[in-house]
Amino acid sequence: MSVSRSDRIYIDFVATMKAEYAAIDAPCWMDGQPIDYAGDPGQPNSFDLDHVKGFKAHPDLRLERSNVRPSHARCNRSRQDGDPRPPLGQTSEAW
Ligand SMILES: [Zn+2]
Repeated sequence: MSVSRSDRIYIDFVATMKAEYAAIDAPCWMDGQPIDYAGDPGQPNSFDLDHVKGFKAHPDLRLERSNVRPSHARCNRSRQDGDPRPPLGQTSEAW
């Protein structure tokens, strides 16, 4: 049994996780930048709940707290279900 994004239980789960992340001002896990928790949904810097193991590929993990991370809407969108890009601030050369 799996949930869809429109299910009440999933909407509540996202709201719960958002509230927890907002309380500690958790940054985006992909680029480390602050998230606009008060922003309108769908705005690039607004909060989006990202699934480490993809939403589509792992329906059994959609409500699993250990599988979700705070992210920007724009980062989540650009990642889709692929692997995250390496975080910023890592260079291959020493300066
Ligand atoms: Zn981000």
